[in-house]
Amino acid sequence: MNAQQAPYSSYSSAPQPPVSDEVGPDEPAGHGTPDVPGAERVRAEIDLDAVRANVRSLRERAAGAQVMAVVKADGYGHGAVPCARAARQAGAGWLGTATPQEAFALRAAGDEGRILCWLWTPGGPWRTAIEQDIDVSASGRWALAEIVAAARAAGRPARVHLKADTGLGRNGCQPADWPDLVAAARAAEAEGALRVTGIWSHFACADEPGHPSIAAQLTAFHEALRVAERAGLDPEVRHHANSPATLTLPETHFDLVRPGIAVYGLSPAPEIGTAHELGLRPAMTLSASLALVKRVPRDHGVSYGHTYRTPGETTLGLVPAGYGDGLPRHASGCGPVLVAGKWRTVAGRIAMDQFVVDLGGDHAEAGDRAVLLGPGDEGEPTAEDWARAVGTIGYEIVTRIGPRVPRVYRNV
Ligand SMILES: *Cc1c(COP(=O)(O)O)cnc(C)c1O
Repeated sequence: MNAQQAPYSSYSSAPQPPVSDEVGPDEPAGHGTPDVPGAERVRAEIDLDAVRANVRSLRERAAGAQVMAVVKADGYGHGAVPCARAARQAGAGWLGTATPQEAFALRAAGDEGRILCWLWTPGGPWRTAIEQDIDVSASGRWALAEIVAAARAAGRPARVHLKADTGLGRNGCQPADWPDLVAAARAAEAEGALRVTGIWSHFACADEPGHPSIAAQLTAFHEALRVAERAGLDPEVRHHANSPATLTLPETHFDLVRPGIAVYGLSPAPEIGTAHELGLRPAMTLSASLALVKRVPRDHGVSYGHTYRTPGETTLGLVPAGYGDGLPRHASGCGPVLVAGKWRTVAGRIAMDQFVVDLGGDHAEAGDRAVLLGPGDEGEPTAEDWARAVGTIGYEIVTRIGPRVPRVYRNV
């Protein structure tokens, strides 16, 4: 079988050996306690061909701009290193991470391309980032001061992206403080401590087509760029677009786009379109093997709290996955699962490790496959269906799939 299995949370620098589903307990363990491959409790299969196809499709949409594949939070739950590799194979010139540790993990796995890492706190590992050729981000003077000190200690210039707050109101430098940040960066550049390689910002509402903040943020970004240029900065890349902006707002592409969720084949929001309409293919399929199938009488309480009672004599199927695997407990009584050819709804509460579905009169057996989410090929629910059921976004559904769920890579 063409499958390669890696524990979710291991960022091994050694290439993961291809293994079959029959591999035994000598499989290296991650930081969590992933099941032994082949044990068939629950698994997240990640189709790396889908990741490649999504990155190619994003490159076409952003013609003229480079693509930075965002692989933070372990590649939105898909596994940062294998997805980063697939994204590079499909032509991603950049990788993006939130934390420095996520960027270091990519280097440890052998990535030698451009990486931007943007979420820093005082005392962060700037020097390691500089020594590992990782582009860093500064939203304020404190960060710039630490970068300059780290670059001196490292004996080489840092590569810095200055982040403007064009209206998101999260990270980024306010317009009132921008001239000062830009001037300080220019002075440090003139001294050779750093090079300003990027000027950038981030959208608040790019997933709401026509939202007035989009145009306002673009105007503010053009102004921030003008101020930077007047101060003598000449950044290599200007960038502002996340997935929804990459997909729907060509005027926001500048030199580089930063899609995250679209790399994994999910639509950023129903308003933007379905994954299929956007030419994206969901990469993750989450499935489990039924642990037990049994007949129970009418009016039998099901799972903690007995929030579900069987309406008649029926068959229950036990799905061995729960909130300990990252399923939202709020999906109790409403999460969708494909079992024995039909969508079922989680019956009663989702527990830490298990939940139950009512199969009605249908036949199933222990070991049968229950598909929780996937691209929809077999009629299974999607991450978006789970998001709708629990009132969240697809991002959260896939990103929260936990370290106890082994990731199995297809089309490596
Ligand atoms: C997460 C993130 C992205 C990617 O956002 P998507 O909506 O997943 O495309 C881009 N830029 C920054 C700064 C981010 O934090």
